[in-house]
Amino acid sequence: MEKNLSAQQLTEIANEFGTPVYVYHAERIANQYKKLQKAFKHCNARFFYACKSLTNINVLKYVQSIGASLDCVSVNEVKLGLMAGFDVKSVLYTPNCVDFEEIVEVKALGVNINIDNISILEQFGNKFGNSYPVCIRLNPHIMAGGNYKISTGHIDSKFGISIHQMRHIERIVKTTQLNVTGIHMHTGSEIKDIRVFLEGLEVMFNTATHFPNLEFIDLGSGFKVPYQPGDAETDITTLGEKVAEAFTAFENETGKKLQVWFEPGKYLVSQCGYFVVKANVIKQTPSAVFVGVNSGFNHLIRPMMYDAYHHIANISNPNGAERIYNVVGNICETDTFAWDRKLNEVREGDFLVFYNAGAYGFEMSSNFNSRLKPAEVLLKEGVAKLIRRRDTFEDLLKNQVIE
Ligand SMILES: *Cc1c(COP(=O)(O)O)cnc(C)c1O
Repeated sequence: MEKNLSAQQLTEIANEFGTPVYVYHAERIANQYKKLQKAFKHCNARFFYACKSLTNINVLKYVQSIGASLDCVSVNEVKLGLMAGFDVKSVLYTPNCVDFEEIVEVKALGVNINIDNISILEQFGNKFGNSYPVCIRLNPHIMAGGNYKISTGHIDSKFGISIHQMRHIERIVKTTQLNVTGIHMHTGSEIKDIRVFLEGLEVMFNTATHFPNLEFIDLGSGFKVPYQPGDAETDITTLGEKVAEAFTAFENETGKKLQVWFEPGKYLVSQCGYFVVKANVIKQTPSAVFVGVNSGFNHLIRPMMYDAYHHIANISNPNGAERIYNVVGNICETDTFAWDRKLNEVREGDFLVFYNAGAYGFEMSSNFNSRLKPAEVLLKEGVAKLIRRRDTFEDLLKNQVIE
């Protein structure tokens, strides 16, 4: 089940649905979910899929069917989640810098709410008092994550309420009778070092004593998955053991039995996704050989935005001699997917596949250059189904006012 889809499977899907196309393998998501459940089996753990990584409603329905919960960052994600069949109790809303109206709108839907700044906390307390439970997003001031752009728990970050503002939080809670049932942290993405979670958990335990009604501690996410061959992933088995020990110790000390929540995005869906493109042109320049594909950062922005590595393979010529290429898109701006990448010889018309394309792939795509967004296909129980049709020219004009 850890195995990637074969060149033949992907080629068949590309031939049937055209390219560029995002392909998601449903059972791979279930497999990742099982790994989490197993690693944290000695904890009272819940997993909220961070759906901003991939929100196609068919993926949400699948995630719901395997028993996971849902983490949303916007009112629209909440609405999509409820449409997909998630129960309000299994939806968590963790917004950042939204206005109070959006919070009120989400509250009316009845889902769990996570508040990440003093201003909103105060307004919420003033309006709703103890009538609706809240979770508070804290910033534990821990530097974590694959790179600065995806770190969220450090001192310069806009996320969460600083743990140094505990007195202020307490004043608001006391004055408004707010019912705080959870505390939350999320320090970044691609965190390999499990000590980050354990140090964060220490900070959470230290603040837990301030909230008598506490039911859960949410440790967010940031579990790393391998992107390159030989890459390490977060050791969730050891983390699970240590987290279980820590919660047991906390319980023995305080008599409080708390749940632990997590919000995996990448961990659940990164590896389930494949992005298949076609080589349009092979271009020899004085310095290199470029493969220009029928896509660009308008479809997969992670390499340009985060210097992310995506493994690429030529599925049309798997036994061809290895040669060195720069793989680029067709956008009129520097648009590089990979420098100096060894691929089996690429011929014009060959299909290339990008791995780890499930998380933050389609989701961050755009219509830049008036190009059409790709199709999405879900492979489930051996059957490949279209779950989003490719954009058409008319979609580009959909909201434009034409006089
Ligand atoms: C983005 C996000 C996540 C998911 O992070 P991954 O690195 O994809 O696992 C979880 N929680 C919150 C609050 C987020 O903003």
